Amino acid sequence: MSQPPLAAPAQASSDSDPPAKSSDDEGCNATEGARLLLNAGLRCTRQRLAVYAALRATTLHPTADELHRAVLPLLPRVSLATVYNTLEAFCQAGIAQKLPPSPTRGTTGTAGPGSARFDATHHNHLHLRLPESGELRDVPDRLGRLILDSIPADAIRRIERELGCRITKVQIELVAEAEAGSGAA
Ligand SMILES: [Zn+2]
Repeated sequence: MSQPPLAAPAQASSDSDPPAKSSDDEGCNATEGARLLLNAGLRCTRQRLAVYAALRATTLHPTADELHRAVLPLLPRVSLATVYNTLEAFCQAGIAQKLPPSPTRGTTGTAGPGSARFDATHHNHLHLRLPESGELRDVPDRLGRLILDSIPADAIRRIERELGCRITKVQIELVAEAEAGSGAA
């Protein structure tokens, strides 16, 4: 089943007293995305804002190619390579993460490496991977919490103690087959 098209991010606004920076910085005031970029030590550009807004607007973990298509209406001249490099910068700055591709097994039996997917959701959440379609989606929080909230804190502490580390994030990926006729694929 095809994914719904990604929503184009809202046009970055550039009203109300932008700080006197380069014209590339338009829209870099007062939006949540702009604050995140600046707090992460990234220079805030219209291009980065648009890519980040497009990434934040979906829970389907888009590929660089899908994000490129999503931002083209706003940034008609941006290249796929630039979008990819922008996403890599987000990951290095810690405001997004790159999720490994799943080998896709299409109905023709072809297998391929797929493309890396990107995620800008910060809080602990579960992923549902559907290898048949290559889809990787977020489990809704109300359902994900059923598992996350039942992870015993003393188990986390014991893992930290025995492995000598501090756990800062829990990532759980569920792998599933879509049931025939269900809406999960
Ligand atoms: Zn996610």
